Amino acid sequence: MTTTDALDDMFVYTDRLQRTRQELARHEVDVLMVGPSADLFYLIGTAGHLSERLTLLVVPRVGTPIIVAAGFEVPLLARQRDLAEIHAWADGQDPIALVAEATGDVRGKTIAVGDELYSVFLIRLQAGLGGARWVEGGQVLRPLRMIKDGREIELLKEAARRTDDAWVEFITQPLSGQTEREALQRLLDLTYARGLAPNFGSCGSGPHSASPHHEPGERVIQEGDAVVFDWGGTLGGYHSDVTRTLHAGEPGDEFRRVYATVLAANQAALDAVRPGVRCEAVDFAARSLIEEAGYGAAFLHRVGHGLGLGVHEEPYLVAGNTLPLQAGMVFSDEPGIYLEGRFGVRIEDTVLCTDTGGERLNEAPRELTVVG
Ligand code: ZN
Ligand code: ZN
Ligand code: ZN
Repeated sequence: MTTTDALDDMFVYTDRLQRTRQELARHEVDVLMVGPSADLFYLIGTAGHLSERLTLLVVPRVGTPIIVAAGFEVPLLARQRDLAEIHAWADGQDPIALVAEATGDVRGKTIAVGDELYSVFLIRLQAGLGGARWVEGGQVLRPLRMIKDGREIELLKEAARRTDDAWVEFITQPLSGQTEREALQRLLDLTYARGLAPNFGSCGSGPHSASPHHEPGERVIQEGDAVVFDWGGTLGGYHSDVTRTLHAGEPGDEFRRVYATVLAANQAALDAVRPGVRCEAVDFAARSLIEEAGYGAAFLHRVGHGLGLGVHEEPYLVAGNTLPLQAGMVFSDEPGIYLEGRFGVRIEDTVLCTDTGGERLNEAPRELTVVG
């Protein structure tokens, strides 16, 4: 890392912590506590080490943030020293006592806790810091994390671009004769060879393609199969998340009809995106098109989820979510049709809400592709 990067990082996180304090004031919360998670990465540039040893960032509405961490992990927090005071504990010591010492008397105060803190730590904190009111940290951090800044958007774009690039190379080879596991591994290898950190992948072939999150197995892909790949990696912590559906050998009429419907629904959701539109309206745009085609009952999930440091985060594009879209939100657009015992089709892109509408961050070819 260059000095410029380091300075830049410090500024980014100082700014995020400052805006977090404003949110604490807005929600009348006195202290925010965040364990190892995407939230922690967002606030101080490290996700921390998720384990039975407590690592906790404590952000008071006024005053210096504190990181409570196991002593032997302190060397990993060199950069974070500029953002927070580090209070180390040794094995055999009680880290909860350190937190209590740092926060002082919390009777009558409101403490927000990051959504992903282990319940065992929350229970111990509640026992050790008596008299406080405990609320969900998501309400404080969600408004910040949902709106991506220019640097976050650049990372999401580049992660998407490299994932697309892997796909373009992947589809030059036939699939028939490979197991789902082998085919997925080749796609992931191509993706991670482009500098993305490994994250997740799923591949379902033939009847397995009708299961949205199928765990790839030993089934051998053969001519006549639909094959759904859903995968991604991370760049600087930010995710890519793409789904494409291939067909091994020439598809029949129904597959073509289903594929065309899903593709049109993907486009309809994209076209519905603009600031002020409710999240649920984007889901509705895709769903009504699929319903009209007679496959409403086969669209088994919401149309999309936010994407950033988390692979599933706010905003969720789902019926009942009246949250209005804002410029800077990034989410998936992933309609699917799943015909049990037969085949499934899903097409997933990452979309940025801009001032004027939706912009796809990835452009891996989405027209029907037939492979050997
Ligand atoms: Zn998923
Ligand atoms: Zn996906
Ligand atoms: Zn997704």
